[in-house]
Amino acid sequence: MSKNNARYWLGKHFSDEHKKNLSISLKGRKKLPFTEQHKNNISRTLKGKPNGRLGTHLSEKTKEKISEALKGHKGYWLEKTRSKEAKINMSLARLRRKEELGYINSPETRKKMKNRIWTEEMRENMSIAKKNLSKETRLKMSLSRIGTHPSEETRKKMGLKHSGEKAWNWKGDKAGKVAFHIWVGKRKPKPKLCEFCENEKDYLGHTKLVLSNINNHIYTRNPEHYKWGHYSCHSKFDFPDSLIGKNLKK
Ligand SMILES: [Zn+2]
Repeated sequence: MSKNNARYWLGKHFSDEHKKNLSISLKGRKKLPFTEQHKNNISRTLKGKPNGRLGTHLSEKTKEKISEALKGHKGYWLEKTRSKEAKINMSLARLRRKEELGYINSPETRKKMKNRIWTEEMRENMSIAKKNLSKETRLKMSLSRIGTHPSEETRKKMGLKHSGEKAWNWKGDKAGKVAFHIWVGKRKPKPKLCEFCENEKDYLGHTKLVLSNINNHIYTRNPEHYKWGHYSCHSKFDFPDSLIGKNLKK
């Protein structure tokens, strides 16, 4: 086949019989390994070049095939560990990327990550993964968040996630006093005046109002069972016979 003829085979196929014959005749023939010189040459020409697939796209059909083939596969790296050196190199590569491009994940990737739909399974895996992080990593993560503020939208989401029955401190009806206070406090608007003495200031001049249970310390989620009041009025209500209570009674 001359060079001019290089495209001769394009789109053409051997017959199955021919393929079989070729296979038989080539069997046992060994390919010589590349010499060191040859390998160096290949390496030199490829250096600095982007990945050969860059800019090319897989057809939808190919993507589908790959996806089918990978279904049910556990991730290659699952339960495998990378060497310390490999990990350091990966970290460095990420840092370099951050320095050169200003980001680690491209804007497109970030958009995809933001829009992905989380299944329950994904969430569970993520929470297991987070729990397994080393103390050091968790410390680093929290340190990296110092000085950053979640967006208004994120905070709203966080609030929803942590309110009501999904709250971290939700313990059903055995919830502690504090949890009930927080729960009711969020739902019972704080008035301007103390609901016990109906003044803005108590006898000590304090204006701070706290939520008090007026249901014999039987903590419920019923806002009617709570009152906003001064610390002192709260004490007076809770311990009417105590010294504080007596002093206040005058
Ligand atoms: Zn009061």
